[in-house]
Amino acid sequence: MKLILVLCCVAVSGSAPRGRRFDNEKLFRVTPENDNEVKFIKYLDNLMKLDFWKPKYAHNITPKTEVYFHADAQQSNVIVELLEQEKMKYRIVFHDLQKAVENQFNKGQKSKKVATRYHEWKEIAVWAYSISLKYPNLASLVQIGETYEGRPMLVLKIGNQKAKKGIFLECGIHAREWISPAFCQWFVTEALRTYGKDKVMTKLLDSMTFHVLPVFNVDGYVYTWTNDRFWRKNRAPTVKDECTGTDLNRNFNVSWNGIDFDKTPCSSSYAGSAPESEPETEAVSSYIRSNLSSLKAYISVHSFSQLLLFPYGYKEEEAPDHKELEQIAKSAVKALESLYNTTYTYGSIFSTIYPVSGSSIDWTYDLGIKYSFVFELRDEGNYGFLLPEHDIQPTCKETMLAVKEIASYVADQDF
Ligand SMILES: [Zn+2]
Repeated sequence: MKLILVLCCVAVSGSAPRGRRFDNEKLFRVTPENDNEVKFIKYLDNLMKLDFWKPKYAHNITPKTEVYFHADAQQSNVIVELLEQEKMKYRIVFHDLQKAVENQFNKGQKSKKVATRYHEWKEIAVWAYSISLKYPNLASLVQIGETYEGRPMLVLKIGNQKAKKGIFLECGIHAREWISPAFCQWFVTEALRTYGKDKVMTKLLDSMTFHVLPVFNVDGYVYTWTNDRFWRKNRAPTVKDECTGTDLNRNFNVSWNGIDFDKTPCSSSYAGSAPESEPETEAVSSYIRSNLSSLKAYISVHSFSQLLLFPYGYKEEEAPDHKELEQIAKSAVKALESLYNTTYTYGSIFSTIYPVSGSSIDWTYDLGIKYSFVFELRDEGNYGFLLPEHDIQPTCKETMLAVKEIASYVADQDF
């Protein structure tokens, strides 16, 4: 009874993140027309150390690709002047980032649906426990490790608990991508709600186990609620006192530290001091290794850009299963787009976005988990990391169709 009471209050809480404010800070969108304009953005970054939302690094900027960066109030004034001087086209997506942060939340609506709101970590943890109690035959909760700050890392096992096939669903590796944990919560809630009603989902849950990690980077996620909404890495110290955190999606033991920009501890994509140096990466890697015989697919959920990607990220060469992965991605995207016409692009990480080293799906792929995918969910840049709560439901609904498509394919394979 106690747990039910907690849940009722959890569902309606939803408060704005605390900590650092972003008054008058801005999100810029610039599409450089030519090499000179690309150079100019890189120059701005050298000058001011901008917070890039897309692409992740200044060196990945090329002509005609959209660039999103966040700048503080003072910088913004100078940037506007300089962009005007250079006669470059730009748009200010958010004039006041603090307002955008607050506008993420539905106002005045007290939805009881857990899955249509963003939740703080402690709420997600209580929710995960409650799911395992509510569905004793279809769900169980496993603690796979502990974060640097001592929080439990929780995996919900959904479906047939003794199945020989499993899919690992990873959310929240990058702290500021809030729609990702929201999707994992949605997935679990919907899968269990539709079991016995939806034919496809019933078959999937009967024949497989979904290992769902709703929040990979728990410390970082907590930090986005308490201190800095745009934090990305974990919260462990680095060799440099003034720079905290490792990018957990660069810390896997695959072509580790292969890119220069990940080598400095102050970078937001710092790869760490060694492969699996971080307790969170180590916990997930160990769990994957010990369940390797049953795990057939690995899906990592991020935002934003509307992409469905697969290996490789660390090399240009096509993966041995490229054609098959491309085919699956194509039908998953088709299923996703059928609901609201949200357009997705698919392909290998390397060829679709840019080289990435030490990422989870390259590591699982090279370990033998052939069906390794990564989603970059909505949107294309109108909200970026600040997707409003009213978009959680449509985003999750369409993504669910794509995940079901991938899972159904895996369910039909003989291994
Ligand atoms: Zn991400």
